[in-house]
Amino acid sequence: MHCDALIIGGGPAGLAAAIALRQKGVEVLVADALRPPIDKACGEGLMPDAREDLAALGIATHHGAPFEGIAFLAGHRQAAAHFERGSGIGIRRLQLHELLVERCRELGVRLAWGTRVHIAPHEPLSIDGRVCTYRYAIGADGQSSRMRLAMGLGQGKIFSRRFGARCHYRVKPWSRMVEVHWGDLGQAYVTPVGEEEVCVATVARSPAVRMEAVLAGLPALRERLQGATVLSTMRGALTTTRKLRRVTAGNIALAGDASGSADAVTGEGIGLSFRHALLLAEAIAVDNLDIYQAGHPVIQRMPHLMSRVMLRMDAWPRTRERVMT
Ligand SMILES: Cc1cc2nc3c(=O)[nH]c(=O)nc-3n(C[C@H](O)[C@H](O)[C@H](O)COP(=O)(O)OP(=O)(O)OC[C@H]3O[C@@H](n4cnc5c(N)ncnc54)[C@H](O)[C@@H]3O)c2cc1C
Repeated sequence: MHCDALIIGGGPAGLAAAIALRQKGVEVLVADALRPPIDKACGEGLMPDAREDLAALGIATHHGAPFEGIAFLAGHRQAAAHFERGSGIGIRRLQLHELLVERCRELGVRLAWGTRVHIAPHEPLSIDGRVCTYRYAIGADGQSSRMRLAMGLGQGKIFSRRFGARCHYRVKPWSRMVEVHWGDLGQAYVTPVGEEEVCVATVARSPAVRMEAVLAGLPALRERLQGATVLSTMRGALTTTRKLRRVTAGNIALAGDASGSADAVTGEGIGLSFRHALLLAEAIAVDNLDIYQAGHPVIQRMPHLMSRVMLRMDAWPRTRERVMT
């Protein structure tokens, strides 16, 4: 089995990379162990930059529900940050995945669903026992990336490890902001994702803290959700702030969460993967992965900084009080 670019993982990072590469004329095969549409625990908010990148990938951004900034709420304290330009969108993860898959099909990306790529150190990549050959391989295989391990990069440096969950409720969004509610056990953030629908994601330090426990400590939010129909099964996922020494080795590159991440509360994960995709395509188009290696830390810088600030606010209630009036 041969292709120009083999992408391992068909989540947002893998599909965005496939689209960006096809737009540059590269022939691409994406393999994912799961079948579409692929769901995942996510706050489902795309910041204005991510929305612009989505448009650069050829996907219209009128889907979902727009939001104008982020509001932070802790008890009676509040602070709001409006976007200086543009607006974000809240979009169901399943819908985003469908849009990305549709765009891949339109561009002629080869898609192999239900196909696990065998990844092991010092062994060639293979599918169903058949060795894959490629000009470039891209590991877009998520938080627990085996590609990262196979490249000898280990786990990288992990600054935070928290546990997230998400659920959808049928209720008219009561704000045009994404609301981040701070409680003693963790944060809950609410993203409007439709005219009558919000996504609620919670993040906590301990895996033992369930979504209900975080919500129990947030009476104002609980009241908003009182009596609303629950529209989805709850899903959980790990979220980390992770930095890697390198994201390329020879003709292999990592993208999306596999290549490092910022805590979920920043709402930047998907946007980061779009930026990785666009830069990676630039680099591969001129056969020079050094461009990607050099630009990747620049992309990560601001979300990592935001992550540190948010985690400090999480750990230190007094810092939180000082930030919110
Ligand atoms: C609670 C929570 C809330 C979040 N909220 C937001 C938010 O509001 N906004 C935002 O932008 N981001 C948010 N994020 C982050 C965002 O969800 C991730 O950054 C994003 O999913 C990363 O995409 P990815 O494609 O890198 O990884 P994934 O979505 O994990 O995709 C990886 C894919 O690789 C496949 N795979 C793995 N191994 C193999 C293999 N060997 N062979 C074939 N396929 C394989 C998997 O099946 C999977 O489909 C949140 C995360 C959490 C946990």
